[in-house]
Amino acid sequence: LVRGLEELKDKPCETPDGHRIKLMVNTGLMTDVVRSLSHGAEGIGLYRTEVPFMINERFPSEQEQRAYYREQLEAFAPNEVTMRTLDIGGDKSLPYFPIAEENPFLGWRGIRVTLDHPEIFLVQVRAMLKASQGLNNLRIMLPMISNVSEVEEALHLIYRVYHEVREENFDVVMPKVGVMIEVPAAVYQVRELADRVDFLSVGSNDLTQYLLAVDRNNPRVASLYHSYHPAVLQALYRIAQDAHQVGKPVSICGEMAGDPGGALLLMAMGYDTLSMNAASLPKVKSVIRSVPLSWARKLLEDVMFLDSPHVVKSCVELALKSEG
Ligand code: PEP
Ligand code: MG
Repeated sequence: LVRGLEELKDKPCETPDGHRIKLMVNTGLMTDVVRSLSHGAEGIGLYRTEVPFMINERFPSEQEQRAYYREQLEAFAPNEVTMRTLDIGGDKSLPYFPIAEENPFLGWRGIRVTLDHPEIFLVQVRAMLKASQGLNNLRIMLPMISNVSEVEEALHLIYRVYHEVREENFDVVMPKVGVMIEVPAAVYQVRELADRVDFLSVGSNDLTQYLLAVDRNNPRVASLYHSYHPAVLQALYRIAQDAHQVGKPVSICGEMAGDPGGALLLMAMGYDTLSMNAASLPKVKSVIRSVPLSWARKLLEDVMFLDSPHVVKSCVELALKSEG
């Protein structure tokens, strides 16, 4: 079976009725990159830059960061590489930058940390831009956005770095900038956010956690964590609709994209780029190549307004089984 899936590598990720989906990969280490190339990823939809920060004993210097970023950009050029700015806090901490809080998931996380410490953000963006010289396949993505002023502030810093780097004679182009939709407030501000950036990407892991008020890492409440919760499905649907209404591309980079049933529902909602762990690429491509878009749309219609996540899950599983 695995060999069969590997053979899919060079086949297009397209439904039998001709609907094309772009499959991207989530990376952190170089090993993810190598594996995803052999599994046919068409670019990086999420590079978690905190990973190289977590394996270091201090903040990596601009030079060190530049080397990490260059590796990722080179491996996928000319395809796009989406680099998320440092997303620490919550469940991800750096031993050399401790954050002690009572409610870490509602506290100092992601963009909140880096806007309070612009020196971290500026060095990181500078390293990304310099690393992209000659490749021009960099996209920058902002995590944990909960209002438009965070986007404006971050954009201001990115423009500043862009001009500085060009003045230092680096021949770079302005990267596309996007935001993650992973906080419930952002679901209701998709249009306002989209107006300010080039693309959106849904972080379904955090979005599910915040919509359901269920800690994504707490085993005690793990049975309440459901990507198939009708409330989650309706939020995801709304995001896709609103983004398309203002003409901005929207992708998804949470675990749900790597689940075959989840991927079909997302495709039916209008997401045309799915980013996932390297290991999930072949099985998602295989399922997309086997069911028509019209079939997936019918499935979404049947399940989106059901009462409970369990019923949604059973319906999706049954439908997949009946399709073979
Ligand atoms: C997410 O929240 O869905 C996401 C992709 O980011 P992370 O898992 O790194 O928080
Ligand atoms: Mg997240």
